[in-house]
Amino acid sequence: AEMIKEVRRMNAILTWGDTIPDPIIDFDSPIFPDQLVQNIKEFGIKEPSPIQMQAMALMMEKRDLLACAPTGSGKTLAFTAPIIAEIVRIKKLDKYSGGGKLLSIVLEPTRELAVQTYRQFLKFSQGLEVTVATLDEQEELAKADVIVGTPKKLVELLPSLSLKWLRWLVVDESDRLFDNISNKKGKNNETFRSQLGTIYKACNGKWAKKAFFSATFSQEVEKWCKESIVSLAIVCIGERNV
Ligand code: ADP
Ligand code: MG
Repeated sequence: AEMIKEVRRMNAILTWGDTIPDPIIDFDSPIFPDQLVQNIKEFGIKEPSPIQMQAMALMMEKRDLLACAPTGSGKTLAFTAPIIAEIVRIKKLDKYSGGGKLLSIVLEPTRELAVQTYRQFLKFSQGLEVTVATLDEQEELAKADVIVGTPKKLVELLPSLSLKWLRWLVVDESDRLFDNISNKKGKNNETFRSQLGTIYKACNGKWAKKAFFSATFSQEVEKWCKESIVSLAIVCIGERNV
């Protein structure tokens, strides 16, 4: 316990919530598929960054979470690795057959960011049976395990998606989505809230967990998460600058 405290202190990992799991201090762990660990290493990533240590541990335990860490601190891999590990695990289950079961959705504020995240998924899932699509490739959606796209596009396509198998809804850059940057009259902000409301209601399967990632600690996001999620875990790196 003292050692864990020290790891958190050294890495400026702050946490709130019930029974927060110990940080994962090494990618080379049996909880991740070997091929995933190999891919991570091949891309020159040696050890988990602070946000990865704690957010990956929470996601591997299927906890709803709100995670904040500065830009460039490796948030993408913090959710990509657990999602890939979960897809690999689910696909080995007897009751999983065939494919064409949507297991994860990642939301990004723009299509450009969605494509970047999509590429990270491709990179880290090389050699694994994981199918990724962006919401813009409609033909690919039917067989995708993970889809990445904007909230607007997802709301449009919701009627055509089956979310029964969904394990993860990740809202990346959630601070940007809530306190919308590109709006003058707060209109986009309102739009995003109503989109998120619609999406959230649709992702109501018994296994569907939610993870919000952001670069800054946003009280808007925290408020929304606390109102909508029962057992929320929060992790911030550095200080919770509010
Ligand atoms: P964020 O989403 O937090 O802004 P990214 O996920 O885009 O950050 O990561 C920023 C860069 O850091 C990327 O080039 C990524 O490959 C690299 N990176 C991610 N994790 C690590 C790590 N554990 N060690 C070294 N570099 C990493
Ligand atoms: Mg990012």
